Amino acid sequence: MKAYDIKVRTVRGRRYADPYPVERLKRVDRPTTIIRDDDVPRIDEREQGFNRAGRGDFGPHLKEQRPRFVKKQPLSGAAMQMSLLLKGVVDGLVAARKAPLPDDPEFMAFHIKETAYFLRADLVGICELPPYAVYTHSADARDPELDGKPVELNHRYAIAILIDQDWHTARATTGSDWISNAMSFMSYSTSGFIACIVADYIRRLGYPARAHHAMNYQVVVPPILLWAGLGEMCRIGDIVLNPFLGPRFKAAVVTTDLPLAVDKPIDFGLQDFCSRCKKCARACPGGALSAEDKVIYNGYEKWPASVAKCVGMRAGNMKGSGCGTCIKVCPWNKPDTLLHRAVGWTMRHVPLARPIAIWADDRMGYGRPHPEEQWWLDLEDVKGNGVLTVPARKSRTRHERR
Ligand code: SF4
Repeated sequence: MKAYDIKVRTVRGRRYADPYPVERLKRVDRPTTIIRDDDVPRIDEREQGFNRAGRGDFGPHLKEQRPRFVKKQPLSGAAMQMSLLLKGVVDGLVAARKAPLPDDPEFMAFHIKETAYFLRADLVGICELPPYAVYTHSADARDPELDGKPVELNHRYAIAILIDQDWHTARATTGSDWISNAMSFMSYSTSGFIACIVADYIRRLGYPARAHHAMNYQVVVPPILLWAGLGEMCRIGDIVLNPFLGPRFKAAVVTTDLPLAVDKPIDFGLQDFCSRCKKCARACPGGALSAEDKVIYNGYEKWPASVAKCVGMRAGNMKGSGCGTCIKVCPWNKPDTLLHRAVGWTMRHVPLARPIAIWADDRMGYGRPHPEEQWWLDLEDVKGNGVLTVPARKSRTRHERR
């Protein structure tokens, strides 16, 4: 998450709230991968991979590890606890009277984006909420009243809020050591915190709004990111990849009926890039990602990936806390510098340069861990009783290498 002062940028007379040059992206009418709108089924959240692991679909080891795999590392446990606390403030009373707002959906979209950036969002996009992006039922193993409860959500718009997982940490980590879950839950809880404030603000303006964040989504996030112009489908399973952050982000969503102008999907050449690159499939320690061609699954065109193997690596990782190796090694996981913005522009506009960039990424050592830059502590709560020990199997710390 960057700490910047938002300055309203003006490009050809139009104001842009966004800190990244999203106005230079090629906009298209539909996402660059097929979505058969009429064939996409709504999903029951209880059928998501981690929930299946929790009820034993992927074997006894993952059933045992599922409740502890985030909490076992104290920083990811603390970040997850914040997400859990936000569950109580995702929705609330709507002001009895609508505020006197400009009758201008384009201005209001600009204003809501500025509000999210003011709250330290990294990227924001808006789309109409696709009906198939709403879960049929909620899942919550901790709350029998919520577990299996039908979802009723008819809001018209979705505001997606992205938070960077942090380039410096992504550079230092192996991808599957003791910081991976903390990277995820820092972004989950921070984006959730922003979404809860944005939703409350919209309700105070007199319009219904609900925040959706990790531990409390009522929506499936990837299709919202595609329609809101925040990325394209990539080879990493269901992950949407952003041209400025790569896959190194997590997202929260606000759904609302506040009239807003929507963004269009983007095309930055990722389908061609991912079809050549395959670096994540080579690097995945769980063998979950495929080097094969795309398939149609549940109405979506996507690269095939094994949910069981991915969850097995993330929840079942006994040498670390979670796994984000695919995110770490991806050539789009880069710092926001002038050089990398220029390379990104070239990747978007010069297809012939892509094979060279893919080759050069490896040759220049991108994707390798930098243990000398580790800042976090390797600690594990082995028995779930709050007693922390240095893990028997762990990545080496800076002090140990001296
Ligand atoms: Fe696509 Fe390569 Fe990133 Fe995988 S590592 S998501 S193939 S660009």
